[in-house]
Amino acid sequence: MPGFELFGDQERKEVNDVLESGVLMRYGFDAMRNGHWKAKELEKALESRLQVNHVQLVSSGTAAVSVALAVAGVGAGDEVIMPTFTFVASFEAIIAVGAIPVIVDIDSTLTLDPEAVEAAITSKTKAVMPVHMCGSMANLNALSAICKAHDLILVEDACQAIGATYNGKPLGSIGDVGCFSFDFVKTITCGEGGAVVTNKARYFKNADHYSDHGHDHEGKDRGAETHPFLGYNFRISELHAAVGLAQVRRLDEFLKIQRSHFQILRNALSEIEAVTFRTVPEGGEESCAFLSFFLPDLETTRKVDNAFKEAGIDGCFHYYDNNWHYLRKWEHLVNLKTLYSMSSEIKNGLQYLKDKKFTQSDDLIGRNISCLIKLSWTKDEVEDRAKHMVEIIRRNL
Ligand SMILES: *Cc1c(COP(=O)(O)O)cnc(C)c1O
Repeated sequence: MPGFELFGDQERKEVNDVLESGVLMRYGFDAMRNGHWKAKELEKALESRLQVNHVQLVSSGTAAVSVALAVAGVGAGDEVIMPTFTFVASFEAIIAVGAIPVIVDIDSTLTLDPEAVEAAITSKTKAVMPVHMCGSMANLNALSAICKAHDLILVEDACQAIGATYNGKPLGSIGDVGCFSFDFVKTITCGEGGAVVTNKARYFKNADHYSDHGHDHEGKDRGAETHPFLGYNFRISELHAAVGLAQVRRLDEFLKIQRSHFQILRNALSEIEAVTFRTVPEGGEESCAFLSFFLPDLETTRKVDNAFKEAGIDGCFHYYDNNWHYLRKWEHLVNLKTLYSMSSEIKNGLQYLKDKKFTQSDDLIGRNISCLIKLSWTKDEVEDRAKHMVEIIRRNL
């Protein structure tokens, strides 16, 4: 997945444009910037690549999720449905706007289970946030139908899935608002960065203002701009945007490499009867950022995971025992360990986590291994790796 593996002259050239003018900020300083508007250019490039009307760049993927919720009016006391398997940013962003994360089971897509979503809807539910983990996707037809029926906002977290499509449309462009991350380990990187994408003009205008202290961006004098509402600073810098601009132009090249490596590994592993693969919803095409598969049980999966590590097969994750991506290890959330006092709505709203069981997710994540597809591998290296992985899995069955 990581675009940083192929960082090179194109990225350096874009960054140098910015260094030569010295205008590191995306707004203002028109006379000094030699006509360089890297953030604006990257937004245009993403609008075209992701087939959306509007893109607002921000400082990170976590900021993107926070801004997406804010622009859709999600706030204090609202409930946002999210999956057990995701990155910690999901609940961080929900809590940041004062809302309550309602965490529900995943299914064999490794993303939100539509039945679990339906069962979790209450009068306080405001949004549903599928997280398209590891390059594939949630069943967006089912989730869109649920959101429509209950008048809920659909927020897609596509941070790990740029380049994947559903019914021919880029992930992130299908819900009311979508989020991307360009941190250092994502398919394309800015170093740090993120994007909020939407077809709704009002959400975009909100995102434009909110991510820059509520500035209305009217006229030519930043100091004279007014603040139609409160905002925050989630701005991206021109230096970061410059890296992303070079990387987005290479996205199709990266995806091609990813898909070809992925296919070699998948073909090899599908020879083993005990190995099954994650479900990809009908109409979906993965970005192939990861190859995710299931083994028969938790014990076998732990054995295979350890054997991979001992053999130096890097980049494979058994998320069941991982601190970042699966609810089982989110002790700091369950016990609400915070630096400052939380609202009673959030404190009370999270009580359910103390004893709620997620047996369906435990079973799936317990048996899942997801392997990162690196761009820097040669074909020979991938073939070697495939052979080696097959041997290790067979030996441990
Ligand atoms: C990386 C990631 C984020 C957060 O992005 P940052 O840019 O690291 O803040 C959010 N959601 C998912 C699914 C991610 O993988």
